[in-house]
Amino acid sequence: MNLNDYYGRRLLVGRDDTSRDHFPALQVLPTIEVGPAMIRCLRCNHQTPKTVAALPRGEYYCPHCINLGRVSTLTKFYHVPEPNQFSPVKPVLTWQGTLSPFQQRAAEAVKEGMKRHCHQLLWAVTGAGKTEMMFAGIAAALERGERVAIASPRVDVCGELYPRLQAAFANCQVVLLHGHQPTPYRYAQLTICTTHQLLRFYRAFDNLIIDEVDAFPYAANPALLFATRQALKKDGGCLYLTATPGETLLREVRRHRLTVNYLPLRYHGELLPTIKLRLAINWRKQVKRQRISQGIIRQLRTSLLQGHRFLLFVPHVADLAPAEKALRKNFTAEKFTTVHATDPDRMTKVQQMRDGQYDFLITSTILERGVTFAGIDVYVLGADDEVFSSSALVQIAGRAGRSPQRPTGNVVFWIAGNCRNVRQAVAQIRLMNRKGRKLKSELSSLQ
Ligand SMILES: [Zn+2]
Repeated sequence: MNLNDYYGRRLLVGRDDTSRDHFPALQVLPTIEVGPAMIRCLRCNHQTPKTVAALPRGEYYCPHCINLGRVSTLTKFYHVPEPNQFSPVKPVLTWQGTLSPFQQRAAEAVKEGMKRHCHQLLWAVTGAGKTEMMFAGIAAALERGERVAIASPRVDVCGELYPRLQAAFANCQVVLLHGHQPTPYRYAQLTICTTHQLLRFYRAFDNLIIDEVDAFPYAANPALLFATRQALKKDGGCLYLTATPGETLLREVRRHRLTVNYLPLRYHGELLPTIKLRLAINWRKQVKRQRISQGIIRQLRTSLLQGHRFLLFVPHVADLAPAEKALRKNFTAEKFTTVHATDPDRMTKVQQMRDGQYDFLITSTILERGVTFAGIDVYVLGADDEVFSSSALVQIAGRAGRSPQRPTGNVVFWIAGNCRNVRQAVAQIRLMNRKGRKLKSELSSLQ
């Protein structure tokens, strides 16, 4: 048995298992709290009615976090308090890049907050380069011998972060943990994992960073906050990174439980492109008859005439084929195709778009984040459809204006009427741009 597997973790074993009892360092922790009508899981905090959670002979289990291994009254946790047995090798930070003055400012604020173990939010616009802004703070924490984790609700974000972090901290042990890739666990100073995996840790981290926190479904936010809290040491610091904080986080800010830093400018120093709203009432009906309004065609054509390629988002996969047919009638010479989440050629199509082989792509929400095409315009047909959350709409709008050669772009949402999510997305972008203008004038007065 490797004792360091238990450092800052809660590992599940059978209640009657005594094989490890001769290790005095191992603590035994309870797994389930049994109440009169409900049971509460001490790993995921979920409450379940006894009738649902019942096992034979008066035993209970938690159905909620079962994919991490079944927590039940037949089990117990072994745990060893985190001892921080690390000897950081210098230089801790091997990243050679540089930050712009406004990125530098945010990075300093983050570093200072991490040093004081604050609970903080970095509200950075899409395309701000937020990963690099964590580096200084992480490096200082690792030098102090702290255990640090970066968690994201999205597996693909973790997969993308891992090689970048391993390169930036080449002398440090980095481990990647998520459900789809069963690499064995090992004790490491820097962990990258899905937020779900945090439930396996207990008072482990001195600093925890949650990236793309808005990608977590809104209703599940309290579960995320719980997972975060119990994975952190009692006095641990937490940094939430997002371009679109949801209601739960904003409430924590209003209650002064979270401090907030803004990064309202993109890495090239410009504001976000603003969203223009246009009315399109019966677009789906028309598209099904292979027609599309002249206003929409004109707008799309304007992009192409100006030499800009674009993404056209539609709400549902079922909208893709009719939209493609309708557009083929109007765009006979142009090269374009459709793409969606389960499209087997998705990667190829995205690469071909990047290589300039397509004039535009018609896409479902799959390209909402993580994919960057230089200098494109962005259009959304049916932006008021409930499939688009306000954070998804901000992310979609943020696909435009990402290159220094063209830091702006056309962003047009076609809607059938007033809609809360669209309104919130427009308001969030306006707020960030107000702050961005202010920051720009502050920085220029310093020069
Ligand atoms: Zn549970």
